Amino acid sequence: MQMDRRTFLKMGGLGLLGLMAAPVIDVLLRSEPARGAGTSSGTAAARWALVVDMKKCWESGGSACQDCILACHRAHNVPDIPDPQEQVRWIWKEPFEHAFPEQRGRAESLAGKPFLVLCNHCSDPPCVRVCPTRATFKRKDGIVMMDYHRCIGCRYCMAACPYGARSFNFRDPRPYLSTANPAYPTRERGVVEKCNFCAERLADGLPPACVEACRYGALVFGDLEDPRSPVREILRTRFTICRKPELGTRPNVYYVVG
Ligand code: SF4
Repeated sequence: MQMDRRTFLKMGGLGLLGLMAAPVIDVLLRSEPARGAGTSSGTAAARWALVVDMKKCWESGGSACQDCILACHRAHNVPDIPDPQEQVRWIWKEPFEHAFPEQRGRAESLAGKPFLVLCNHCSDPPCVRVCPTRATFKRKDGIVMMDYHRCIGCRYCMAACPYGARSFNFRDPRPYLSTANPAYPTRERGVVEKCNFCAERLADGLPPACVEACRYGALVFGDLEDPRSPVREILRTRFTICRKPELGTRPNVYYVVG
């Protein structure tokens, strides 16, 4: 499957579509998972996971802190569109009741608290199942990716995602970028996008931009299959929750709340 896709890219399938082929090919190919954790060509894992320590986030950063969001959106050329109906978001904050609707009324101390939300890189992602063009696909290391050039804008993935983690480009996003990061492709009108766990940075041996930007250590990223990883340590020792577990999507983003 990976080889087929790689071959397709190399054959110039994207070029035939006439869409910013060179930089996108570079990024997609470069972000294929490396073999062996921490190799010089990148950082690899059996299953990537993120733990968000909301307690640290609230107590250290405060609800006004946007460092992780700004770092992510800058790194990935996420446009700042003022119209809330047309906003594009990879990572943002939602009140507890919206992020965890099934918990409403069960945890009064969390009522109204802002929670950082993003794609959960679900182990059983409904978005991948419904995509008719395989524009969204799951890598061996658990990252749910988007191939912007294969996306036909049908938005089935958006309807299937129970977390609202995907955004649609209702308009050309490029005029809404204050600065553009040349290392990551910009998108265009009619394309769906979302968090990619910074696959392109992992390929360079770097942590996700949000994790790097957090001054308080509230974001911890690692391999869930590695018993020595920091994420495993947190899951062993702290009380964590994930979003809508009853749906069986098996999210790989966890929250420390106490
Ligand atoms: Fe897909 Fe939504 Fe799960 Fe992300 S959170 S993998 S977009 S179903």
